[in-house]
Amino acid sequence: MSEPEPENNSVNLDFNNTEIAFYDKSDSELTNTYRLFKLMSQKFLVDMGSVIGLFAVKANLPFVKPIVRKTIFKQFVGGENLLDCQPAIDRLHKNNTLTILDYGAEGKSGEDALDEVMKETIKAVELAASNSSVPAISTKLTGLADDALLLKCNEEQSLNPAEQLNYERLIDRISQVCSRAEELGVSVLVDAEESWMQVAIDKIVDEMMAKFNKEKVVVYNTYQLYRHDKLAQLKADHQIALKNGYRIGAKLVRGAYMDKERKRAEEKGYTSPIHKNKEAVDRDYDLSLKYCMENYETIGSICATHNINSNLYQAKLIEELGIPKDHEHINFCQLYGMSDYITFNLADAGFNVAKYVPYGPIKEVVPYLIRRAKENTSITGEVGRELEFITKEMKRRGK
Ligand SMILES: Cc1cc2nc3c(=O)[nH]c(=O)nc-3n(C[C@H](O)[C@H](O)[C@H](O)COP(=O)(O)OP(=O)(O)OC[C@H]3O[C@@H](n4cnc5c(N)ncnc54)[C@H](O)[C@@H]3O)c2cc1C
Repeated sequence: MSEPEPENNSVNLDFNNTEIAFYDKSDSELTNTYRLFKLMSQKFLVDMGSVIGLFAVKANLPFVKPIVRKTIFKQFVGGENLLDCQPAIDRLHKNNTLTILDYGAEGKSGEDALDEVMKETIKAVELAASNSSVPAISTKLTGLADDALLLKCNEEQSLNPAEQLNYERLIDRISQVCSRAEELGVSVLVDAEESWMQVAIDKIVDEMMAKFNKEKVVVYNTYQLYRHDKLAQLKADHQIALKNGYRIGAKLVRGAYMDKERKRAEEKGYTSPIHKNKEAVDRDYDLSLKYCMENYETIGSICATHNINSNLYQAKLIEELGIPKDHEHINFCQLYGMSDYITFNLADAGFNVAKYVPYGPIKEVVPYLIRRAKENTSITGEVGRELEFITKEMKRRGK
């Protein structure tokens, strides 16, 4: 089930080493993980569970939370609050892996709730500053602003005075987060979202990069390479930054909203911003990695993917270009609970690698969990590999 390894893979990296990937998992933990991924490979169960689970959690049905907490939440989430994340941070640290804290707030509305998200995000920055294995936090602008406001800004519609005030509050919130992060030497990764909000998000993140990335890369934007315009945008952003004396931070992902994007484009009758096929996405993703590696002195980048070939490709570029493996501008990252065979083998080989560790009350992280479960349904994709590697490790242990 593994993706074919790229030809001429001269890098001394073996993602098949399951002993390293699962070395701190007990036999029973391994069995539980196997069962969970096996369940998630059933598309109908995931589709049904997503609808019922979302309703049941929102309706506060008493029996649901304990089930979610012990299963999918435990696999993919660090805890219900910041302090709960410590065991996950410690476990990753033991595997030479860094943690990026990700407060699971999205689609928030109401100024008080948005202020609360900002305060919670600043607390994460402060915890990161006190812990050498937490160099960064991640944030979503849909947790710091109303979706409706971002949508309006995206379409460059003029704002009424109340909306203008709320826009200024949004800028103030993200500025406070970035400013505290700069002061404490922590990085801020801003997630990419749906295209109908992303123009507004990019504009704000560009402003933050221009302000805070003069000495160091504090702020990272996210480039979704499933979009056909993002490789060009990465290069254009880099050129603007060079001219204006700052550095860009680029977290490279393929993109999480493909179906939603295509559906909306079809319904509204515009051209989908998503590439027509996976091959085009993979090509742009790897070209972006190459561009970032070739310009690593002025771009801080994060190869944020579970794709084996892209991870191997970045490792190979680092070697070919003679870049120090542990340069602070060159990073790999996977999501907590997924692809430990990539993360821990990269860490073992001496690369900078981190896990995104989301946390938050169960109700808040449900949309994130649904995305992870849906991403894992295809037996030909990530879940197939997870099952393959867990089975291999169980056999190796004689189980
Ligand atoms: C650390 C980290 C942070 C992330 N942050 C974000 C974020 O801020 N915003 C965000 O949107 N996503 C984010 N993601 C999710 C990411 O965008 C992908 O959805 C996910 O990682 C799967 O892609 P992959 O590269 O890991 O694996 P792969 O299995 O190689 O790629 C799967 C992806 O390829 C694309 N794809 C699949 N089939 C097609 C097709 N037929 N046509 C076009 N494209 C196709 C889709 O993007 C799909 O998700 C993040 C992922 C990681 C690991």
